[in-house]
Amino acid sequence: MNITVWNEYRHEKQNPDVKEIYPNGIHHVIAESLRERGLPNVLTATLDEPDHGLSPEVLNQTDVLIWWGHKAHDEVDDDIVERVRERVLAGMGLVALHSAHHAKIFKRLMGTSCSLRWRESNEKERIWVVKPGHPVADGIDMCIELERTEMYGEFFDIPVPDELVFISSFEGGEVFRSGCCFHRGYGKIFYFRPGHETLPIYHNIKVQQVIANAVSWARPTAGGQYPYPAGAAIHAV
Ligand code: ZN
Repeated sequence: MNITVWNEYRHEKQNPDVKEIYPNGIHHVIAESLRERGLPNVLTATLDEPDHGLSPEVLNQTDVLIWWGHKAHDEVDDDIVERVRERVLAGMGLVALHSAHHAKIFKRLMGTSCSLRWRESNEKERIWVVKPGHPVADGIDMCIELERTEMYGEFFDIPVPDELVFISSFEGGEVFRSGCCFHRGYGKIFYFRPGHETLPIYHNIKVQQVIANAVSWARPTAGGQYPYPAGAAIHAV
């Protein structure tokens, strides 16, 4: 399985506080955590590379794409967004993290605004497992506690998820659908909420575990062809 971890990689270069937490970028920490869990073929790609690091060659070899973006969503080229969308419909998995809820690719695949409430308050979050036994929650007992997080709250304007794996609660009383599974074409999409750039969220081993689980869940499965081939009808015997 080939995994590509995409990051816009701007906060880490521009904000010393973020750089201290992620000296080589969020993508680097996520990629390392996947390799440590036995997923060897992990590439990284960033916004400022040619083609944003997502050439047709890279995408065609990618089984699961992880996406982190925040301040530069608008700088992502529409043609490349379409290229990613086509790959998802053809079966590539997509794991959208945190502020990727407003990434062009996520909004295009959802078809809604994907807006939400938020508050930068460094408050405690509990990410509750609401679908025990789901592969994305493998190894997570009851909930993940994060001492300091940015709050995301409902209403989160997404289509009803095909499966809801996590719901977060926050000290301020809000709740949020934090772990959502979607199917688009032959592709699987997982949205996972944690990950504000000024906090060391992606160093948390349980968060890392969920991302690795999501990658395994979202990998393409055999069968099917996109775009659909022209052909004769299949008649019942
Ligand atoms: Zn954030």
